[in-house]
Amino acid sequence: MTTTNIALALAYVPIPDEIASEARRTLQDRFGHQLAVARNQGPCRSCLRISKAPEDLILLSYQPLPDTNPYAEIGPIFIHAHECTPYDSPDFPADLIERELVVRAYNFDGRIADATVAAPGEAQRAAADFLRSDSIAEVHLRARSYTCFYFKVVRA
Ligand SMILES: [Zn+2]
Repeated sequence: MTTTNIALALAYVPIPDEIASEARRTLQDRFGHQLAVARNQGPCRSCLRISKAPEDLILLSYQPLPDTNPYAEIGPIFIHAHECTPYDSPDFPADLIERELVVRAYNFDGRIADATVAAPGEAQRAAADFLRSDSIAEVHLRARSYTCFYFKVVRA
């Protein structure tokens, strides 16, 4: 069996901008939590950049998948408290490339089909490997230790 080396074009998808805007405007998330602005450090799930002092962040609950089955988990994410530009680049987010990441592949029914832990610098390849399968709809990248959601990867 030969291995093809054809690059798969990927898109790196932050959380929807309307969710970030709504959280900043109302200081409430869609799960009824009152939100606070705090000096913190973490990757913003909108611009996919790690915050730098003195940037403030908002912690909110987010559900990356539609609520159609028990895999649609809800978890904590950070976004910048100030308006930032949602990530829109064909390249893997530079601030997260050197992190060990959890890579979860979901099928078109929103169920987990496979998962792995990618070493630093390997998450892009791991996501592409999953997305070469026609049965995989999207891949979620998450923190290795806390397993909080970071962003989605889909076919471009
Ligand atoms: Zn941001």
